Amino acid sequence: MLHERPQVLVIAGLDPSGGAGIQADIQAITAMGAHPLPVISCLTVQDTANVHGSEAVNADLIRRQLQALKADCPIHAIKTGALGNAAVVEVLVEFLADMPKLPLVVDPVIKAAGGGELADESLWVTMRDQLFPLADLLTPNGPELCQLGDSDNAEGAVARLMQTGCGAILATGGHSEEAMISNHLYRPGQPVHTWQLPRVGGEYHGSGCTLAAAISAGLARGESLPGAIEAAQHFVAASIDHALRVGRGQPVPDRGRQ
Ligand code: PLP
Repeated sequence: MLHERPQVLVIAGLDPSGGAGIQADIQAITAMGAHPLPVISCLTVQDTANVHGSEAVNADLIRRQLQALKADCPIHAIKTGALGNAAVVEVLVEFLADMPKLPLVVDPVIKAAGGGELADESLWVTMRDQLFPLADLLTPNGPELCQLGDSDNAEGAVARLMQTGCGAILATGGHSEEAMISNHLYRPGQPVHTWQLPRVGGEYHGSGCTLAAAISAGLARGESLPGAIEAAQHFVAASIDHALRVGRGQPVPDRGRQ
C-alpha cells in the first residue's frame, strides 16, 4: 500500500560539507514529516568553516526541473535558500506566477556564517524586489535583516522589508551575543510574537536552513504559522543538542537521528 506525505519544493544550494544548504533542508523536511522535492540552485565550494566559491546552476535547467515537478507532483509548500544568481530568482518568480497560491518560506541567504558570499548585489536586490512580495514568511538572521532592510536598527529594517509586501518576517536572534536567543515574528497589523530560547553557545553550520526548512514542512502539513515556527524551533534546538563534529569548523546540527 502506498502512502502520501505533504510535499515541499526546495530550491537551495549544495554545501558539500552536508551542514547547510539543500542537505539541511532535505533532512529537516523529512524529519518533520514531509517529502522534499529538491532543486539545486548553486554548487558551492565549502567546508565546515566557510564558503570558498559558488557557481549557479543554469537557470533554464532549473526552469525545466520546476516544470517537470509541477506537471507531476502535488506541491504543498515551497522553501528557498541560497539562489545562485538573479537569473535563477527570475525563473522562480515566473514559475510562482503560474502556480496556485502555496505557502512560500524565503530564507534570504546572503552570506555563510564564516563570511563567504552566497549572493552578489544583483541577486539580493532581485530577491528583495521580486521574490519577497510573494513570500508568506521571510526568515532573516540579524545581519541579513540589516542588509536587506537597509538599517542597523532591527525595527527600521523590519518596517522597510514589510514594505516589499511579504506576509510575515521571522527575525532570528541566533547571531547576537545575548544570553537568550529571541526570535521575533512580525505580521502586519498584529502584535509581535516573541520566542525566547536558551543559547547553547557557538555557531552551528546550517541552523538557519534547518529552521526555515522545518517551518516549511509544518506549513505543508497545514499548521498555523506560529505553530510551525514553534515546532521548528524545538527541532532545531534538539538537532543542536546532538550536534555533529563533521570537520574542523562549525559543528553541524544532527537532523538525521532516528
Ligand atoms: N545555503 C548554502 C548553500 C550555504 O552554503 C549556507 C551557508 O554556508 C547557507 C545556505 C546558510 O547557512 P545557515 O543556515 O548557517 O545560515
